[in-house]
Amino acid sequence: MDLLLITPPAPRFTRESFVHLGPALLKSHLSSQGKQVKLIDLTARIRARIPWVDPYDHAVLLLNDSKDLSAYLHGFHREEIDRAAGRLWELIPARDRTARVIGFSVFSRHLLKPALAMAAWLQRHDKKKKIVFGGWLFSDPLYHDITAFPWANHVVSGPGEDTVEKLTNGEPVSQRIISEPLPLKTLPCPVFENEDLLWYRRVSIRRMLLLPYLLTRGCRHQCQFCPSSRAVPEFMPIEKASTELLALQETYAPDAFFFSEVNLNNQTMYLSELCQCMLDSGLRTPWGGFASLIGLSPTLIRLMAKAGCRYLQIGIESGSKRIRTRFNIFKVPNLPEVESILANLRAAGIRLNLYFMHGFPHENEREFAQSVDWLHRLSRYAATCVVSIFSVEPGTPIFLHPEEFGIRLHPPIHRNDSLAFLEPMFSLPKTHMVTIPFDEINGMNWAEKFSQNLRRQQSLQRFLTNEVYARHLLRISPCSPLYALKKKWFRPYFHYDVYL
Ligand code: SF4
Repeated sequence: MDLLLITPPAPRFTRESFVHLGPALLKSHLSSQGKQVKLIDLTARIRARIPWVDPYDHAVLLLNDSKDLSAYLHGFHREEIDRAAGRLWELIPARDRTARVIGFSVFSRHLLKPALAMAAWLQRHDKKKKIVFGGWLFSDPLYHDITAFPWANHVVSGPGEDTVEKLTNGEPVSQRIISEPLPLKTLPCPVFENEDLLWYRRVSIRRMLLLPYLLTRGCRHQCQFCPSSRAVPEFMPIEKASTELLALQETYAPDAFFFSEVNLNNQTMYLSELCQCMLDSGLRTPWGGFASLIGLSPTLIRLMAKAGCRYLQIGIESGSKRIRTRFNIFKVPNLPEVESILANLRAAGIRLNLYFMHGFPHENEREFAQSVDWLHRLSRYAATCVVSIFSVEPGTPIFLHPEEFGIRLHPPIHRNDSLAFLEPMFSLPKTHMVTIPFDEINGMNWAEKFSQNLRRQQSLQRFLTNEVYARHLLRISPCSPLYALKKKWFRPYFHYDVYL
């Protein structure tokens, strides 16, 4: 075995439960070079077990929330941490641990601490292994500092095919690597691990499997809070997409495809041609993904539905025209038009998950009330809705020019201590957990804004729980009472339930 690539476990309450594409692309690339690669996704394996009494669940929570993790990673003995990390290794068959290179694919900060603890545990038991960390989280340079640990041999930001290939060849590689994404047209067809897919089937309703496929990158819109707004849109060539989707359909028999990354209808011409190609090629697997409202004409909607589109994730963001204009949210037309598009989508049998956001800088009570009104009216067309608090993400226009948007960002809490993210996750100040804190110039300071956001979120959440999610649970209960019960208690990963 050349490479074992582990997706560490996310705590059960998070939404991070979906088949990951990055490891499948890496496996495809390395397999074509004759390498043996095994992927193991621990999130799915743990979520398929019965909660409350599950020792693996406890291990994940402990690693995320222990004060002793930092000392353990620095080489001191901490019995509890050692036991928890060792427990997670129990989920990995001994034959797979023989790989020369062990990689951790870390999609979010919830996965980081279990990954670090598992790596430190491994180093105590087998010093010969090369350990490499990669994944979306490391696009934030803050986390590159884990190379301070001598056993964290390499950290890769970006896809990292070349790096891992060199490592498996035994060639020298520097400690921190930044690799640029490959053009879509050169990407290989992903190769998924069948065992992981079986585990994902187990955690879903009626054993359904949603398989990701990278169809577009970047977005033609320029919403000022969005990390995708600065990337130039790119498309997978239609012939290539069609051939690969047919191959994936034959190999894995998924129940649906999830087309990533962001805006499916970046170019309506592309989407129409793709739909036509799917119809001609005989692709019969349903599909969905993220889309924006502008450009979804009745003709295009009918064509999409005919070609197999069964669900869409659509950002509505705010009901206030001033906020939409201020933050360049031009993907959302006026309310009657929005209602008409959503009605057409519903009539075509396309299920919807709608996203709303509040807490924009200088958003006043009236503007918030407009968003609440939109949520109430538009949720009638949707299978599910998600409401989140506005956050400032690194690299976005608002992050780069905060004063233009009337805010001042607080300095990062981690700036003075590069490994401060190792502090227990759930005892971080709540005010730092969602976003980079900011003060409104001539407005609220962060403490005031935060408590207002929390109050508003709670009231919106009540509406979602009592009406939108309740409706959703009623709909899925006849299919799977056990799954509905899990949703009631844990309520994670609603994004993907829209299809279920
Ligand atoms: S439409 Fe969506 S993906 Fe595109 S910039 Fe706006 S928020 Fe980002």
